[in-house]
Amino acid sequence: MNQDNFRTITPYVPGIQPGFADMIKLNTNENPYPPSPKVIEASEKFNAADLRLYPSVDVGPLRDALAAYHGFDRGCVFVGVGSDDVLATIFQACFNSGRALLFPEITYSFYEVWARLYNIKAEKIPLRSDFTIDADAYIGVENGGIVIANPNAPTSIAMSGSDIERIIVNNPDNVVVIDEAYVDFGGESVLEFVRKYDNLIVVRTFSKSRSLAGARIGYCVACPELISVIEAVRNSINSYTNNRPSIEMGVASVGDEKYFRDTIAKVIKTRERLTGELKELGFNVLPSSANFLFAEPPAMLSAAEVYEGLAEKHIYVRHFKIKGIDNFLRITVGTDEQIDTMLSEVRKMLKK
Ligand code: PMP
Repeated sequence: MNQDNFRTITPYVPGIQPGFADMIKLNTNENPYPPSPKVIEASEKFNAADLRLYPSVDVGPLRDALAAYHGFDRGCVFVGVGSDDVLATIFQACFNSGRALLFPEITYSFYEVWARLYNIKAEKIPLRSDFTIDADAYIGVENGGIVIANPNAPTSIAMSGSDIERIIVNNPDNVVVIDEAYVDFGGESVLEFVRKYDNLIVVRTFSKSRSLAGARIGYCVACPELISVIEAVRNSINSYTNNRPSIEMGVASVGDEKYFRDTIAKVIKTRERLTGELKELGFNVLPSSANFLFAEPPAMLSAAEVYEGLAEKHIYVRHFKIKGIDNFLRITVGTDEQIDTMLSEVRKMLKK
C-alpha cells in the first residue's frame, strides 16, 4: 500500500481505562456519583423500538431544554457529542484566517491536536510561574482566535470573569472560545457575556458536573450568527450526531436542578478535604476550582513514583510526562471512601 495516501498525526491520548473490577479510577475527571434518578428513569422508559428512526437533526429537544435553562433563544445553542465534538467543530468553523490561534502552553492537550488536524497555525502562550493564565498576554497580539479552558486543565486554576472579559473586549475581530468543562465546580462562568459580545463562544459538557460522560453530550452558547457557522460545518460532516437515548437522558438531567446542585456540593466538599489532607502530607496543591486537583508530592517522592505505587494498587491518577508539570499528579475527586483509600496508600509510601 502506498503510505502517501495516509494522514499521519499524533492523536490526543486520554487517561487509561483499565478493566479491573476493584479499581479506583481518578484519572479522567469523571464524576464519582451516578447521574440524576430522573436520567435513570428516562433511560428505563426509553423505547428501543424507536431506534429504527433517526434522531432529530439539530438535537431538537435537548437544544430547546438548554436554551430555556440558560434563558437564550434556541438559535444561540449548538449541541454535540461531548464537548470534544463541539470544540472540534468550532475549530473547523471559526479559525480559518491563517493567523495563529492562541491558547495556553499548559492546557487541555486536545487543542493542539485539533490545530494540527485542521492545519490551524497555533501559538502557545506561557503561563505565569504560579501556573495562572496571564490575560494581558492575549491582548494586543495579532491572532486568528483564542481558546481558554476556565478553570484550566490540568492545573485546576480558574481565571476571573473580568480578566476573560478584557480578552473578549480587546479581540473584537476574533472568536474567543471559553471551555467551561469544569466551571460548575467553582469557576466564574462568562455565559452571560454571550448576550453582550458576538465574538464569544462558551462551551459546556454533561460529562463532569452532570455525571454523563458515557452519554457524550456537550454544547456551546454563542450569538446566532456564530452558531449558524458552526452548524453548517457539522451539517457538512454528519447531520445526526447525538443519539436518541442520550438526547432523552440529557433533557432529564437538565430538569433536575436539585440533584445537580447537591452532587456538585458533595464533590466540592470532598475536594476541600482532599486538598487539606494532601497539604498536611507535604504536597504542593494548586488552588482548585474544578473536580480534580493538581498536586506535587513532597521532595522524598516523585510524581512518577506515586503514580506507579498507586497503579500497583489499582488506583489510577493521571501523570503527564510533560516538561514543567512532570512532577505533578492530576487527581480526580472521587467519593470520600475512594479518597481515603488513596490517601492511606500515599501515607504508606511516605511512611506516615
Ligand atoms: N475540555 C476540557 C478542558 C476537558 O478536560 C475535557 C475532558 N477531557 C473536555 C473538554 C471534553 O469532555 P467531553 O468531550 O467529555 O465533553
